Amino acid sequence: MRVFAPSVKLVSLIPSLAPAMSRTLFVTTALPYANGSFHIGHIMEYIQADIWVRAMRMAGHTVHFVGADDTHGAPIMLKAEAEGITPKQLVERIGAERPQYLKGFQIEFDHWHSTDSAENVELSQDIYRNLRAAGLINTREIEQFYDPVKGMFLADRYIKGECPKCHAKDQYGDSCEVCGAVYAPTDLIDPYSTLTKARPVLKTSEHFFFQLSDPRCIEFLQKWTTGSNAQGNKHLQAEILAKTREWLGNGDEKANLGDWDISRDAPYFGIEIPDAPGKYFYVWLDAPVGYLASLKSYCAKIGVDFETLLDPNGTTEQVHFIGKDIVYFHALFWPATLQFSGRKTPDQINVHGFITVSGEKMSKSRGTGISPLRYLELGMNAEWMRYYIAAKLNARVEDIDFNPDDFIARVNSDLVGKYINIASRAANFISKYFDGQLAYPDDAALLGSNWAQAADRIRADLEAREYGRAIREIMAHADQINQAFDAAQPWLIAKTLASAEPAQRAALQHICSSALAGFKALSVMLAPILPALSKRVATELFGQASNFVWADAGVLPSQINPFKHLMQRVEPTMLDELFEIPAQTAAPKQAGASKQTTSGKQGAAANQPAAEQNPQPTVAQAPGGEPLAPTITIDDFVKIDLRVARIVNCEQVEGSTKLLRLTLDVGEGRLRNVFSGIKSAYTPEQLIGRLTVVVANLAPRKMKFGVSEGMVLAASHFDDKVDSGIYVLDPSSGAQPGMRIH
Ligand SMILES: [Zn+2]
Repeated sequence: MRVFAPSVKLVSLIPSLAPAMSRTLFVTTALPYANGSFHIGHIMEYIQADIWVRAMRMAGHTVHFVGADDTHGAPIMLKAEAEGITPKQLVERIGAERPQYLKGFQIEFDHWHSTDSAENVELSQDIYRNLRAAGLINTREIEQFYDPVKGMFLADRYIKGECPKCHAKDQYGDSCEVCGAVYAPTDLIDPYSTLTKARPVLKTSEHFFFQLSDPRCIEFLQKWTTGSNAQGNKHLQAEILAKTREWLGNGDEKANLGDWDISRDAPYFGIEIPDAPGKYFYVWLDAPVGYLASLKSYCAKIGVDFETLLDPNGTTEQVHFIGKDIVYFHALFWPATLQFSGRKTPDQINVHGFITVSGEKMSKSRGTGISPLRYLELGMNAEWMRYYIAAKLNARVEDIDFNPDDFIARVNSDLVGKYINIASRAANFISKYFDGQLAYPDDAALLGSNWAQAADRIRADLEAREYGRAIREIMAHADQINQAFDAAQPWLIAKTLASAEPAQRAALQHICSSALAGFKALSVMLAPILPALSKRVATELFGQASNFVWADAGVLPSQINPFKHLMQRVEPTMLDELFEIPAQTAAPKQAGASKQTTSGKQGAAANQPAAEQNPQPTVAQAPGGEPLAPTITIDDFVKIDLRVARIVNCEQVEGSTKLLRLTLDVGEGRLRNVFSGIKSAYTPEQLIGRLTVVVANLAPRKMKFGVSEGMVLAASHFDDKVDSGIYVLDPSSGAQPGMRIH
């Protein structure tokens, strides 16, 4: 009879070579901007970092894992102003939401802080003073657009105007979305401030620059970007190193680095620049310093000396997890500002790609985004998400895709069907016939040693952030355990156990014990990914005092407690609910029928048979008066360009009993003439000044009374003869003419 033993690359009885030396690590994730809630991209990054941190801790290393809110800058200042609160109030409100997400997904930062803190003011100003003393700060007069009504300088994103190349209206200050041209905001024709609509004026101001182009900086960065730390870990991934070479030059090529403008003028929500009244640090200067501020605040809490911990000549490893969109700041500015202010430089910048959903970039209103909060509110298991994301991640800078069918398959078939299944099958025989006692055949020492080696490979994969590879190996072991269990047919032995020979009885105990030893080892390997589940396995099933460490994988368990249910399967209906669009953002054309149906979803619906989408016959009796139109794809929907419009004028149409003539501002810098059959419901006075929604890319239509350039959206009964009213759609206040309805 065959007893399962894991395959090993090096068959050896030498105990695992697991960590000889305990390391101290300082680990961060990118600081989220505090103008909104976490989205699934944040959660993915935190899960990646949290798994890594847990794997390192299981090896006995000391890890300080901190995060913080990034609070400064014009967007937060303006958002707070629009809400009638102070930036501090806004930041506090957002900060108060953070714990429910982090706890919900089992992400355990040691400390969560804010860049709007005393530590950050002190550290940012200190770093600046040191850079200045090193001769790396200079000032220059900058000519920049200024909003005379608002009284502030305008970043490019607050300036719009006509594209100088293709003459498209309402293009942003840095590039044209229509023709792709890139230009300076001063090149725009008829520029205006998006804050006040005022025409901006050019005004000069003194700006402070960090001289990244200084030969000292370039020399340092060329060395640092190609370097490794004492552990032999490279500072940058190969793709990121290649990217930095475009900026730093390579050998004979000249560096292509500009100096970095680090100042902004008042009014600005930020940290004041020392000895420069009215000047503030640009948010990107003080944001990464927030990593240090959070650690410093945490050090004070746990009684560790911050400066000693981050001694430039010390052994603490500084590891940052970030997304691919902020490489420039982290691979160039950040190491350089630390180096030339006499501080410790980073050891590893771990860059990940973005998360897409069913192959599409996320969009909240199209329903393809995943709201992390909704996920939790639906009662979906956080460890399903942790497992799924881990299975998709590797050490490269690749985007990963969340696919609902793949999610269901991996959780139900692999996690529950293969891994959990081992325990539920084997544990019952042990509890029923052997009073929870495990026993092994004579080669048990080899079994333990092999599991120790397998766990060592997984530990190394997790440290290298090859999570997908680790999970593939774990699932291959699970397959082997299940196959060996099936081949031994323990249920047949169990049937005749009363009359069985002692050898058969022993065989049953050996088969189940070996399977459970394997289950324990796999639970150790999965512990960083499934922290709550593995803790239950450790404490409830195997009776350990605490959660697993890596060394537990090679220790064969000697007894178990009765098996308790460990994990549910995913219900596919949960995914449907996860992707449902909230009713108020459903497409306006369906507004009349949306009360009768809950199938407003778009992303998930596209994959479903049309029959499931068909409404019940009773819908025809309801206020909308017509069944839902056949399912369309998101591609069909995006062909319809719905825009917010202001009704600047409205008049009766002589000779028409149905029509009103509307003059609409659709934010195009010209007005449109649109006829609408709403005369029975509105007088012109009721409509003038109101916002509404118009189909803006409908082909112009020549009518008896003139050309109609679009269609205003209104809700009504399908049948004209049913007098249940006509209701012109209007967006909530704050919407601006020209905004697209997505
Ligand atoms: Zn253009």
